Amino acid sequence: MSPPRDWISEFKADPRRSGIFLDFDGTISDIAPAPGGAGLHPRAAELLPGLARRYPLCVMSGRRAADVASLAGLAHIHYVGVHGMEWMEEEPRIDPEVLPHLPTIERAREELGAALPGLPGVTLEDKLITVSLHFREVPGEEDEALRLAEGLAMRLGLKVRRGRMTVELRPPVDIDKGTVLIRLAAAWRLRRALYAGDDLTDVDAFRGLRYMMKEGGFEGVAVAVLSPEVPIELEAVADLTVDGPDGLLDLLSRL
Ligand SMILES: [Mg+2]
Repeated sequence: MSPPRDWISEFKADPRRSGIFLDFDGTISDIAPAPGGAGLHPRAAELLPGLARRYPLCVMSGRRAADVASLAGLAHIHYVGVHGMEWMEEEPRIDPEVLPHLPTIERAREELGAALPGLPGVTLEDKLITVSLHFREVPGEEDEALRLAEGLAMRLGLKVRRGRMTVELRPPVDIDKGTVLIRLAAAWRLRRALYAGDDLTDVDAFRGLRYMMKEGGFEGVAVAVLSPEVPIELEAVADLTVDGPDGLLDLLSRL
């Protein structure tokens, strides 16, 4: 795929109908070893407030919405969390479709917690709506962590999602970054949008852009933020690639 030729001029000429959607970790932050350790890239902190004044701007993360909102710490941005399953208003709001599944997620959290002593170095992240195992510190435990998560998902009727050195159990609902992008693009009456991300869950958002383009009257620009760990699936379906968060910020500074 390739982006429309003059997409930067088109964004600048019609900013209210041009959306900017950004993943957080590894996209406008640097990837940190622990889930709590990432921070907004200093250049993003400088650039995004100006962009948010001109363009509808949404940051979409796998983190809790309140977590990503406080890490980014910028106003006038729509924060979406847990891959689309919650978002910030005055308070965080969980998608109503997700609510009936919360007790099952709690059960998964208890069972994973009980199994954790057998997986030294693997950490559990509880996001209420989903529960994840992280094995960045102990890549050798990947197979065992995956086997555990997949077995539990099958038994409890949950979905499994792979990420970079992580596996997540989530409710069996069809909500992802792509479905949320489609909903927001319609609500904001966008004619074009850029989405930038660095991980497998960002492929969903790229798919959302393609869906809007097929519907017609919409241009999408899918940007893969490259790093040594970037999944080939993401790079393969991107319109543009940039070199890390710095490369993305160079691109965004042209808007
Ligand atoms: Mg990311």
